[in-house]
Amino acid sequence: MLLKDRVAIITGGARGIGRGIALKFADEGCSIAIADVRMAESKKTLAKILKKGREGLAIQCDVADSLNVHNMVDKVISKFGKVDILVNSAGIGPSPNSIADIPEDEWDKVLAVNLKGVFLCCKAVVPHMKEKRYGKIVNISSGAAISPPASLVHYTASKAGVLGMTYDMALELAPFSITVNTILPGPIRTEFWGNVVPPGKEDEFFTDFGKRLVPMQRVGTPEDIAGAALFLASDLSVFVTGEYINVGGGQPLHYQF
Ligand code: NDP
Repeated sequence: MLLKDRVAIITGGARGIGRGIALKFADEGCSIAIADVRMAESKKTLAKILKKGREGLAIQCDVADSLNVHNMVDKVISKFGKVDILVNSAGIGPSPNSIADIPEDEWDKVLAVNLKGVFLCCKAVVPHMKEKRYGKIVNISSGAAISPPASLVHYTASKAGVLGMTYDMALELAPFSITVNTILPGPIRTEFWGNVVPPGKEDEFFTDFGKRLVPMQRVGTPEDIAGAALFLASDLSVFVTGEYINVGGGQPLHYQF
């Protein structure tokens, strides 16, 4: 098992990509703390982790709130005594809109969750990782960070910001054997797409989207991202830091005849 006796915090682990990563890590021997605003879904994910024979916690946490984040990390340290892995997957996706029409408070909200949330979680775990001289930070950014979709300037800015943080933290933390890397997912079928996909038309939407826009002809699954996350969270990637990996079935390569 690649993560035997490791302890991971997974933000946004209640559902979607974070849940896929949590279940994959549990299969590999890891104890998991789910930190998410959705408590009911967090408990369901936790139940699956416990069923696999692993330990875990489900913690109500808004990653954009520093007090919430501190309390969350304190609970993990009280139970497990350490944090080996932090996966920053919590994120929100606003509806596409022209820059002229994006409300200022929507900009603030997207940046607070998607960018400041990553900062706060890293800030809270890094002292514990430094103490052990070991840590693996895996950020879930987006293909939008390097290949923006247009009309999502706040989302794109937040995800490009995560990439910038990755490079900076990787440099600072390398002497402590703490690696910091980022995954850029392509389109992944989760409830994240709720404000774009017409209700009841999910199958048609995702099939068509995959065929038209993804070189591998399909949208991805949380499990597709979990494989890359496992690589970056395990010692398979012990000498890899400050990197990003596209996991997008060939995106963001441009696909045209
Ligand atoms: P989901 O919406 O399925 O899951 C995200 C989880 O994070 C939800 O439970 C969500 O709750 C939670 N969350 C939102 N805000 C906060 C917060 N402030 N504090 C704690 N938890 C929060 O999304 P995905 O799993 O699809 O996305 C995960 C990450 O991957 C995101 O960062 C997203 O930007 C990124 N990504 C996703 C892609 C995709 O195609 N799905 C593509 C590229 C990147 P709630 O539902 O209540 O908001």
